[in-house]
Amino acid sequence: MSLIKTDALVLKVGDYSESTRLVTLLTPDHGRLRALAKGVRRIRSRDRGALEPFSRVHVTLYLKDPSGLGTLRESAILSTPSALRSDYHRWLLASLVFEVLDRATLPATDLHTLFDLVCAYLDELNATPRPVEATLAVLAALLEWHGFRPDFTCCGVCGGGEPFAGFRVDKCSVVCGRCAGGSHFLSLPPGTLKAFEHLASAGIRGLESLRLSGLQLDQICSLLVALLQYHLEITLTTARMLHV
Ligand SMILES: [Zn+2]
Repeated sequence: MSLIKTDALVLKVGDYSESTRLVTLLTPDHGRLRALAKGVRRIRSRDRGALEPFSRVHVTLYLKDPSGLGTLRESAILSTPSALRSDYHRWLLASLVFEVLDRATLPATDLHTLFDLVCAYLDELNATPRPVEATLAVLAALLEWHGFRPDFTCCGVCGGGEPFAGFRVDKCSVVCGRCAGGSHFLSLPPGTLKAFEHLASAGIRGLESLRLSGLQLDQICSLLVALLQYHLEITLTTARMLHV
C-alpha cells in the first residue's frame, strides 16, 4: 500500500454508498485514479466542497496497487471555476472535455502536459467571452496529445492540393473533391476548414482574432467529436446534449 500526496482534477463524482462517494481524479504523476471518499455525504464533512467535478484539489490517498481503488484520506480545494456553477452552457462544455478525459485510455504516469493543459482550459473557460472556441481548441489539443494531429496540408487520400471538399475522419485529414465521399467523409466549406486549422494550431489562448459563425462552430464541434470518438475509440454522450 502506498501513500500518495498530489494535486488532482476531479473528473467525476458518484455515489458509492449512503455515506461514501466514488471520486475519479486526474493526476500529473499517477494517471487517472479512483478513490473512495468516506463520510463526505455527511453535512459536516469539511471535504465536501472540494469533491465536485472541475475542482482542482490537493489530496492524500492510500492506494493498494496502481490499478486499484484508493481510499481518500484528505482533500483540500485549490481552485474551482465558479462561472461553471451558474452557467449551464459552460458547465456542459467542460463536461464534454472531462468526459473525453474520463473515457480515453491514458498512461499511468507523466500526465503533466495534459494536466497543465486542462487546468489552463478551466481558467480560460471561467473568464473568456468565447467559451465554445476555447472548448473546441482544447478538444483539438486533446486529440493531438493522443497522437492524432489534423492534417490540412494536402488531401489525405491522393496527396493533392486545394481546393478541399471536406474532412476524412479516419484519415484525420482534409480531402479533395475527387476523393470526397464514403462513410468517414464530412462535407465542409473551405471557410470552416480554415477556421478549424486556426483553432487546432492557435491553442486555447490564441483565439482573440478568430470570428466564427454559429454554423461554423457547430460544424467544427461535430467534426471534433467524430474524430475523438473514432480515434480514441470512445462514445461521448455529452455531445448529444450540447448545441454550441
Ligand atoms: Zn484527393
